[in-house]
This record gives sequence, C-alpha cells and structure tokens, in this order.
Amino acid sequence: MRLLVTGGCGFIGANYLYYLFETDPDCVVVNLDKLTYAGNLLSVTPLEERHGVKHGDGRYVFAHGDIADAELVTRLVEEHRIEAIVNFAAESHVDRSINDPTPFMTTNILGAQNLLQVARAMKLERIVHVSTDEVYGTLGPDGKFTEATPLAPNSPYSASKAAADLLCRAWFHTYNTPVVVTRCSNNYGPFQFPEKLIPLMITKAKADQPLPVYGDGQNVRDWIYVRDHCRGVDLALRKGTPGEAYNFGGNAEKTNIDVVKTILTALGKPESLITYVQDRPGHDRRYAMDYSLAERTLGFTPEYTFTAP
Ligand code: NAD
Repeated sequence: MRLLVTGGCGFIGANYLYYLFETDPDCVVVNLDKLTYAGNLLSVTPLEERHGVKHGDGRYVFAHGDIADAELVTRLVEEHRIEAIVNFAAESHVDRSINDPTPFMTTNILGAQNLLQVARAMKLERIVHVSTDEVYGTLGPDGKFTEATPLAPNSPYSASKAAADLLCRAWFHTYNTPVVVTRCSNNYGPFQFPEKLIPLMITKAKADQPLPVYGDGQNVRDWIYVRDHCRGVDLALRKGTPGEAYNFGGNAEKTNIDVVKTILTALGKPESLITYVQDRPGHDRRYAMDYSLAERTLGFTPEYTFTAP
C-alpha cells in the first residue's frame, strides 16, 4: 500500500512506521511531520537498521511540513501516488491545551479537515483518523465507553479531537469520503515524549526528584501498549468499514497512583518521592473502553499486558 502517514516522528506515529515496515515490507510511506516539540527525527532513525529503510530510497520519504498545508499535502499525494492517509499528527498534551488552546484547534481541527478535503478531492481509497477515548468525556465507577457513547469532551484537547471526529462523520455522510475513525485509550511504550505520565514519572524517579501526582491520584485510565494500538490502526486501515469509528483499549484499568507506585517499585525508589499537586482543571475521573466491535469485526485483541510477568 502507498501511504501518507502524518505525525510519524511522534510517539505513536513512529511506532506505527516500525509496525508497518515489519508487517508490510512492500509498503511505500511518506511521513509528513511538522517536527513540533513532540516530533523527533531520531525516533525514526532506527528504521534503517531494523528494516533497511531510509529517506529517499523509494520506500520511504520524510516530508517536513504541516498537515494544514493544502498545497503541500496535495503535492505529496500526487507525487507519490498515495492511496491512503493515516493521520496521527496532532497537538496531544492536555495540559498544554489548557495553557494555550489555539495550536490544538489549528492542527487537530483545521489540519484534519484539510486531510479530509485532500482525500475527497484525490479520491483516496481510505483515510484513517486517529482519535482518543477522551472525546467521550468521563465515566463514573462503572461502565465503559462504546462507539455509541455520545461525545462529551471536557478539555480543549479532547474538544479539538471530538470536532475532528465529527468532521470525519460529516465528510463520510456528505461526500462519501471513505474515512475510518479510531479511538484508543492511553498508550505507553518507546519514543513517548517525557511530559506524559509514564515517561515523566520514570525520568523524575531516576533523578530522585519529586513525582507530581494530580489531585488524589485516583483517576483511572485504561493502558494499552503502543504496538497493540498500532495493530488496531492498521486493521482499521485494511479492514475497517468507511464511516465507522472503532474503539481500542488494553483492558488494563489502573489508577494513576497505582501506575506511579508500580514505576517506583520497578526502579527500587521510595514512595516518599510522590508529591500530590493541585488537580488539573476539568480532569476526567475515569476512562474505560469497550472494544468488542473491533474484536468482532477486525479481529483486534491486545496482545501485551500492562504488568510484565
Ligand atoms: P505526539 O505528540 O507524540 O506526536 C504528534 C506528532 O505530530 C509529532 O511528531 C508532531 O511533530 C506532529 N505534528 C503536530 N502538529 C503537526 C502538524 N500541524 N502537521 C504535521 N505534523 C504535526 O502524539 P502521540 O501521542 O503520538 O499521538 C498521536 C495521535 O494519537 C494523536 O492524534 C493523539 O490524539 C492520538 N492518541 C494518543 C494517545 C496517547 O496515549 N498518546 C491515545 C489515543 C489517541
């Protein structure tokens, strides 16, 4: 398949490139990334060693640019005879969205809209838009989000992602654009920017610095290993039904404080490093994903468990 993968120098996008070249050695990929603070070319450097793939070799091209740039995206699609887009590019950090929402609206909404327009105009076979469980808002102690759960985002980040999900819906219903939306829970794994919970806590603990935990630490997230998420996105690309949204999760609900304590134990560091700090405004209490649709229709199942045996 000839793919335009956006945000391939970010955490999940980079992992997807490794997954792709491992599972589909014949694929041709253009990686379009703006290289914001969260994008790092070094994350894709090992592609050469692991899969013999490097920029400009006919199988892989890195393009530095913005997903909101209509001319650039159109040119890349034309020049490389792209068949499908997988959109990972986003502003992705909730705290940053609270401090400065504007880049989230520009990239996550207008950028996504631009990709939908190009997919429509160029009659692409498929566009996969990678979204998040956060679009559903928050849960009480019971229940799980299904794809039918109404969108009820509570942060500027999740509102921008929900807006893009709705644009995808509109492009499918209005223009018949073959778009598939994926919504996944919290990812962990290699190449994650160290502002997110797990790499942040590991970095602080290793340096014997205080570990800042929001509120009472009882917020619950469902954790999934990034490779499982990548497999889900790839299944949605190849087997998903246009117009559908698919939930993905790891079936591994943990409170934040449990995650932090697990890290401290693994590193042999004392719990006295934990420092409770003022809660994040609008902090969702609990997320949990019902991913039975993806299990049933795509054959998805998470293969990795959160806790190493
Ligand atoms: P990330 O912040 O690590 O990476 C984002 C990448 O997008 C970076 O390489 C950045 O340079 C690039 N980018 C940002 N703006 C761009 C633009 N305008 N044009 C081109 N490139 C741009 O994010 P991530 O954690 O890898 O998340 C990837 C996607 O998955 C996002 O859409 C996010 O909403 C979604 N998601 C993430 C998680 C998670 O746990 N991290 C969970 C569910 C869904």
